Amino acid sequence: MLASDYDPASLPDLLPLYYKRLFPFAQYYRWLNYGGVQKNYFQNREFSFTLKDDIYVRYQSFSAQSELEKEIQKMNPYKIDIGAVYSHRPNQHNTVKSGSFQALEKELVFDIDMTDYDDVRSCCSAADICPKCWILMTIAIRILDRTLREDFGFQHLLWVYSGRRGVHCWVCDESARKLSVTARSAVAEYLSLVKGGTETVKKVILSDPIHPLIKESLTLVERYFTRYALHGQEILSRKDTLDKVLALVPEDVRKDLQQDFQNEKKPETRWKLIRDHAFRKTATNKKSHHFEKEIMLQYCYPRLDVNVSKGVNHLLKSPFSVHPKTGRISVPIDLKELEKFDPFAVPTISLICEELDRPKPGEEDEKVEDKENEKDAAEKRRIRDYKRTSLAKYVKYFDQFLDSVSRSWKGELLKKSDLQKEF
Ligand SMILES: [Zn+2]
Repeated sequence: MLASDYDPASLPDLLPLYYKRLFPFAQYYRWLNYGGVQKNYFQNREFSFTLKDDIYVRYQSFSAQSELEKEIQKMNPYKIDIGAVYSHRPNQHNTVKSGSFQALEKELVFDIDMTDYDDVRSCCSAADICPKCWILMTIAIRILDRTLREDFGFQHLLWVYSGRRGVHCWVCDESARKLSVTARSAVAEYLSLVKGGTETVKKVILSDPIHPLIKESLTLVERYFTRYALHGQEILSRKDTLDKVLALVPEDVRKDLQQDFQNEKKPETRWKLIRDHAFRKTATNKKSHHFEKEIMLQYCYPRLDVNVSKGVNHLLKSPFSVHPKTGRISVPIDLKELEKFDPFAVPTISLICEELDRPKPGEEDEKVEDKENEKDAAEKRRIRDYKRTSLAKYVKYFDQFLDSVSRSWKGELLKKSDLQKEF
């Protein structure tokens, strides 16, 4: 059996090894402690664990990295979720007067799931993904990342592969973590463009003037549209998919196009004909017709699960958690490598555990010289451990991300200490 052939039945055997020798606890704590700028920020954070047989344990919280480590190594959760920072320690929520236990802060998060695109992809459906439809996730990341940085001014965005069929975004800026439910809803609504469920045929309707968000998004969609829609999904080449596209144009145009397409089979030329019709109709009617843009957006614009973004107390699967079905680790995605990111190349827990046991030529166990530093030694050993596996490059990228976030909390700490000096 290949190491990449993950068998869900092996998960209980692999998790103890993963949490003991591979899970990047130091980085994880460094992230969620945010430099200790705010008191009890880590201690008041909710974690929830999914254990064997779908037993779900909410309101876990930890006083320090060591406690988190110990508990995770004891429970060996199948899945870890991260929740909000509360007013009190989540594990003591029952002892707090009712009503005073409240979710105060959390990263602004986004959840994009491939199943929400089932009406515009014909290569796969439901939980399945393939390189053809993965382009949708690339487009979603490009558009949301641009918008969150340029329109909202956020800087610290952590993109994470969910381990199966989607991606998550954690906006870690202090201002994002402090957003109210109302503000989060407003951001999520601003970003939502594709409206309506399965019964809705036309899910994007544009009006003049076209919003800058849409113009910018269209520029990004154009980079992928031919590859994704015309070639990958063959939306203009097959009868069933073509009918779906034609349902999105005005009736008179549809008739003309059906005529034109009898002699023209090439998808690029067919697409050009649709565009020409939109321009011509706009010119003759002296009224804008944006159906070609609407088609592009309906097929490619990111589809968010807005409820995940709206709630401060909504839980989201943690980075470096394992996906129990696929065995793949939820790894951070380096956007500099986004075009090359291949979800099928993301390491599974079985692969990295096997890599750990592969003897490396010339490698000898370093002797722990100083007995007093055994804890340090254990930490060092763990660092050496993950570096021997395919997990290394993802932890390295996470480190770089944390270095950049830490520059902002160092600024905060400096401000604080200056204030203390003044008084
Ligand atoms: Zn697919």
